[in-house]
Amino acid sequence: MLTIEWSASEGWQAPLIKPFGNLSLHPACSSLHYAIQQSLGVKKAANALLYVILCPVGSYFNSQTDGLSLWADPKYTRAWKGGTGNYKMGGNYGCSLFAQYEAEDHGCQQVLWLYGEDHQITEAGTMNIFLHWINEDGEEELATPPLDGIILPGVTRQSILELTGKWGEFKVTERYLTMSQLCSALQQLRVKEAFGSGTACMICPIRHIVYQGENLHIPCQDKDSQLSSRIAKELTDIQHGRTPSDWTFLV
Ligand SMILES: *Cc1c(COP(=O)(O)O)cnc(C)c1O
Repeated sequence: MLTIEWSASEGWQAPLIKPFGNLSLHPACSSLHYAIQQSLGVKKAANALLYVILCPVGSYFNSQTDGLSLWADPKYTRAWKGGTGNYKMGGNYGCSLFAQYEAEDHGCQQVLWLYGEDHQITEAGTMNIFLHWINEDGEEELATPPLDGIILPGVTRQSILELTGKWGEFKVTERYLTMSQLCSALQQLRVKEAFGSGTACMICPIRHIVYQGENLHIPCQDKDSQLSSRIAKELTDIQHGRTPSDWTFLV
């Protein structure tokens, strides 16, 4: 385990790689990372508390090959202005589980989180979301919602923005996207691809969105012209050192 000690007086100390030792809770335990937990405090003698921690394991990682199906219902809100949704805080995730279970009841894998009266598209499960389309002005655009306080500023999101921005092949935009804009773009065949982004899956194409009783089919390009696979390849090439980049450095 990589351990870096920090204190207010000394700041960061030298990084150490050492065994876990005899920690009673594994540091990778999902309840520590995602607060997928419910603590039931049972009062015992001498004010000692016995905690029971429940950690459900989600169907999180298995959607890369066939594409994601998302369930969009504006009755749930993942994050709100003035809240903590733009920080990776455990508490954000526990409360999203109820919606996640409902998505699964509707035959979907994850929740497409909407926000506000105009059903803004914000995130897909625990991923940022990208839409590659011909926008209202007829321009080819790769768009993702802006960091306005309700979006997690993912490192994959930022990498994709910077990478595709450098290509200069189409417009790369942080902008609001609503369900009605998406629905008209789908009707007018202006959508090329949509995908989620995050460290766990890197890039995950979206195939279906169930919204207001309709199953919206999201198109995808054939394998060779897919933007999602091209981005995934370029990012992996950088991560593995096959493409030199100032994002990597030797340790
Ligand atoms: C982790 C996470 C992301 C993706 O962030 P990365 O830094 O790219 O892994 C996006 N949205 C939510 C809600 C997240 O928890």
